[in-house]
Amino acid sequence: MSGALSREERKAELAAALAEIQERIATACAKAGRDPAEVQLLPITKNFPASDVALLTELGCTEFGESREQEASAKAAELAEAGIHPRWHLIGRLQRNKARAVLRWAGVIQTVDSVRLAEALAKAVAKARAEGEREDPLDVLVQLSLDGDPQRGGVPQDQLAELVAKITRSGELNLKGVMAVAPLGSNPHDAFGELAEVSARLRNEHAGAVVVSAGMSGDLEAAIDHGSTCVRVGTSLLGGRRLTSP
Ligand SMILES: *Cc1c(COP(=O)(O)O)cnc(C)c1O
Repeated sequence: MSGALSREERKAELAAALAEIQERIATACAKAGRDPAEVQLLPITKNFPASDVALLTELGCTEFGESREQEASAKAAELAEAGIHPRWHLIGRLQRNKARAVLRWAGVIQTVDSVRLAEALAKAVAKARAEGEREDPLDVLVQLSLDGDPQRGGVPQDQLAELVAKITRSGELNLKGVMAVAPLGSNPHDAFGELAEVSARLRNEHAGAVVVSAGMSGDLEAAIDHGSTCVRVGTSLLGGRRLTSP
């Protein structure tokens, strides 16, 4: 395939993919006896240009997920210049020394997985508030490790209570729920079933922690079956092709 698509061709391609995913979500919700309005479709735009985010905004999307602080902050800045201000979710690993930087563009950090990271974020929020850069606490999700392998991100279940306590007592972070990635090679139904149990226990003590961010292009049906309220879709929406910004 040579040459980039025109803006209108790309918009039509994205519109078709968006409709297809919405259909998948609706079908999965019908099977699970759930209301599709409970499930947010979060487009994941990592590796894709700001122009695609702009087109998806025209198609009605208002929130996006990004994996890397530097790529996301550049994209957010480019879009802000064009007057486009979506709500961004960080869905990738965050280094503690990037806590201050991430606050400038991210509305939600989905990947809080250690006490030390929670502390760094809380400190950065406190500083930004003291300096008049922001008013509100930062929305966060706790990323849970479903295979206990800390290399892949996520807090092991036996450290979850300590992390939750750190977040909820900080006053700077707003615990919105949980996030997980199904371990490679596992049955997603097992993984998402486990996540649903953890989420239910968490909600017993923290009624506001209602978000369950689970499911990607390949396993969103299983995630919806187990109560996901946010599916993070990259490939099925944006495709495998990488475009350069015009
Ligand atoms: C890239 C990514 C996604 C999207 O994955 P696709 O398979 O492309 O839909 C979802 N969640 C996380 C954490 C990701 O890094």
